[in-house]
Amino acid sequence: MSEKSCLFPTYARFPITFVKGEGSRLWDDQGNEYLDMMSGLAVSNLGHAPESVKQKVKLQLDQLWHVSNLFTIPNQEKLASLLTNISCADAVFFCNSGAEANEAAIKLARRYKQKVLSENKYEIITFKQSFHGRTLATLTATGQEKIQDGFLPLPDGFVYAEYNNSADVEKHINGKTCAVMLEMVQGEGGVIPADATFVKEISDLCKKHDLLLIVDEIQTGLGRTGKWFAYEHYGIEPDIISVAKGLGSGLPIGAMLGKGKLIEAFNPGSHATTFGGNPVITAAAIATIQTMTELFLPERAMELGEWMMGQLTDRLKDNPIVKEVRGKGLMIGIECVHPVVEIIKETHDAGLLVVGAGPNVIRLLPNLLVEKEDLQKAIDVICTKLEQHKTTWKEAVQ
Ligand SMILES: *Cc1c(COP(=O)(O)O)cnc(C)c1O
Repeated sequence: MSEKSCLFPTYARFPITFVKGEGSRLWDDQGNEYLDMMSGLAVSNLGHAPESVKQKVKLQLDQLWHVSNLFTIPNQEKLASLLTNISCADAVFFCNSGAEANEAAIKLARRYKQKVLSENKYEIITFKQSFHGRTLATLTATGQEKIQDGFLPLPDGFVYAEYNNSADVEKHINGKTCAVMLEMVQGEGGVIPADATFVKEISDLCKKHDLLLIVDEIQTGLGRTGKWFAYEHYGIEPDIISVAKGLGSGLPIGAMLGKGKLIEAFNPGSHATTFGGNPVITAAAIATIQTMTELFLPERAMELGEWMMGQLTDRLKDNPIVKEVRGKGLMIGIECVHPVVEIIKETHDAGLLVVGAGPNVIRLLPNLLVEKEDLQKAIDVICTKLEQHKTTWKEAVQ
């Protein structure tokens, strides 16, 4: 492709063009095969082109594509029922992306305080190094300056606390605070799991100060970390949960889930989106959840994740350029002492797809149906590359 691109240059794209995907494999336009350990960023959680989802989407495509949310959409009712069965939530709002799910969460939290409780509260405590999306409100919720750069003025009502530091959260609580919003494992921030005590203390603080607890499960949700939702690892119950990435197996859908007490905060007209939960997209999500349930994929992610993390920890423990291997389930990060973009390019050349998380972390997000042998192959390539870089990075270590 030598022609000038007509796209805004919003992405630093790798020079690979994929033309076909199946299971854990992708093929580029040169006929090269790749083992995919990023799943389109935690999206293709059943692998590429999963048969069970494809069948249901095709059936729906033959029936009806779109009608508008002014009518009952049976697939939406069914999907909402499935989502409330696998979570602690009681009601669902469908949208088209993660950022939109978080927008809905922010709006619901504010509206509950202002309309149901008649309190003038709007401030949301989020965290440094968090990631919540790219709309104006969600990039403001995101505690990373580089993501906010050049977009002033930002909407009011977000303050940032130190992650894994509940004392710092407490310091930020005041008469305007309405909610705390966090990821259970910071994804884009570098695969940083929340500490168990931190999450428990946050949950207690929310109860004590009557704050809503919003958990952003857009990357961690739907089995990725070894539970349907990562909050389940912590024995807490959030008030609001946002999901998106893995929900539609690659078709765009987001959802905001909330507890029963929040239902009356929204009424007809208070929030909406044209495409949200359309018949085709919800068919894909129903099939995704049904497949995950039938095949016990959260449990599978837990088992395979523990095995993989053990292998990586063991093989990398004496490598001086590796700082830490961490994660939950099949969401694993390898933190290095140096930016990893070169290593990521080298793994591409070796037919393996992995992705960064922040500058120094190699992130692994295999699909949840991945074969153990394929995980083994990925481990071998990554450990070999990191072994080779031991000498080239020597100066960085010293
Ligand atoms: C990807 C992601 C988002 C944003 O989702 P989009 O679909 O890109 O808008 C928000 N929060 C977290 C934790 C994410 O990983």
